[in-house]
Amino acid sequence: MHEDTIAAISTPIGEGAIAIVRLSGDKAIDVADRIFRSPSGKRLADEQSHTIHYGHLVDPSTDEVVEEVMVSIMKAPKTFTREDVVEINCHGGLVAVNRVLSLTLRMGARLAEPGEFSKRAFMNGRIDLSQAEAVMDLIRAKTDRAMNVALNQMEGKLSRLIGDLRQALLETLAQVEVNIDYPEYDDVEEVTIPLMTEKCTWVKREIEKLLRTSSQGKILREGLSTVIIGRPNVGKSSLLNSLVQENKAIVTEIAGTTRDIIEEYVNVRGVPLRLIDTAGIRETEDIVERIGVERSRQVLKEADLILLVLNHSEELSDEDIRLFEATEGMDRIVIVNKTDLPRRIDIQQVENIVGEGQIVTTSLLKDEGVEELEEAIAKLFFEGTIDSGDMTYVSNARHIALLHKAHQAIEDALAAAEAGVPVDMIQIDLTRSWELLGEIIGDTVQDSLINQLFSQFCLGK
Ligand code: GDP
Ligand code: ZN
Repeated sequence: MHEDTIAAISTPIGEGAIAIVRLSGDKAIDVADRIFRSPSGKRLADEQSHTIHYGHLVDPSTDEVVEEVMVSIMKAPKTFTREDVVEINCHGGLVAVNRVLSLTLRMGARLAEPGEFSKRAFMNGRIDLSQAEAVMDLIRAKTDRAMNVALNQMEGKLSRLIGDLRQALLETLAQVEVNIDYPEYDDVEEVTIPLMTEKCTWVKREIEKLLRTSSQGKILREGLSTVIIGRPNVGKSSLLNSLVQENKAIVTEIAGTTRDIIEEYVNVRGVPLRLIDTAGIRETEDIVERIGVERSRQVLKEADLILLVLNHSEELSDEDIRLFEATEGMDRIVIVNKTDLPRRIDIQQVENIVGEGQIVTTSLLKDEGVEELEEAIAKLFFEGTIDSGDMTYVSNARHIALLHKAHQAIEDALAAAEAGVPVDMIQIDLTRSWELLGEIIGDTVQDSLINQLFSQFCLGK
């Protein structure tokens, strides 16, 4: 338990009609009672837990009414932080919220550090580390789908799976222990090795499955960096515009090293596309010409998805072929645009070049084929499986790194068993793997790591 009570604005500042000031700690209700006046005159401390109350906030030094509010009280332990929690819903304006926050601070609360609410939840055993990180992802979730993944993780799906894997390793370790304690029984080793191999192989496969989801997880978190290429006039800008218009675009500005980069996020069937507008790709007719061969190669190299646009009404040119070559082996969708005009392109030739890849025909002028393109994008990245909202994705770089290490440790153990290495040596690898998995859910992490993680949270979460 913490002796101090923390407070923060827990809704995005400057957005929305309602803002919430959240308090957590032993004195949360007491602090609220000092400034809250209900029409009935009843004190919040005398109310039931998990109830919400209408009233006014009053500055006790002047008796002046500061705000009209709804106050929720949630008493420990069934709260997010497992401490007493009070949420003051007030009007959304910056001035109003700040006034409420400073009132609570004057009444004895302390301004929360970034992530301190989640940190308390973690410290008080309410959530484990991977769930806490999911809270962070949730704040940053760019699409509904990413939100679902984050929610699933927060609900402990990943934690449970990791728990199962650790349990299997623990059982194996117990068996190894028996083997070490009773080396005189020859048949123990005969039991131990096959059992260990079986369990470790299962754990190894499960980790591999999780790692396979990680590229999708990363996409959900960060968006799929998408580059539209094609000769001048084939319809690149038109494509960008129709993707942006048909889908909700979220524009974020990132202060880059040399210049500010504008990213446009569009949500295509739950796949966040990050259309990177470097050096004004949007205006440029030819990205190669505009930003130079080297830069454009770099942009292409970093792209997750290439949309290569061709002109239906012109023959395939050498330049088209060069673009095919430059993007060979990448995730690529070929768009044959301007189908409203007479066909000049040799579709068979395109199919031969593309092979297994996807070709979509469009007339952006007539708004035809965009649906099919969106379908193709979703299919390419999620093979139609992403809709199973109950899938567990790993999307966090720290988790991925730990899973890789744990996987390596298990492979080492299996190789050692194969080579007939004594079981007590194998034990070391197994224990290491168990510890590494534990780090994902915060079971074996040091305080420094915890502090570092929680400081990344937004204020008020
Ligand atoms: P970009 O140079 O590749 O960016 O091509 P734009 O998107 O600027 O389009 C070039 C021209 O082609 C514009 O005049 C567009 O209106 C036109 N255009 C784009 N898509 C189509 C299409 O599907 N059919 C026809 N007929 N014209 C199109
Ligand atoms: Zn253009």
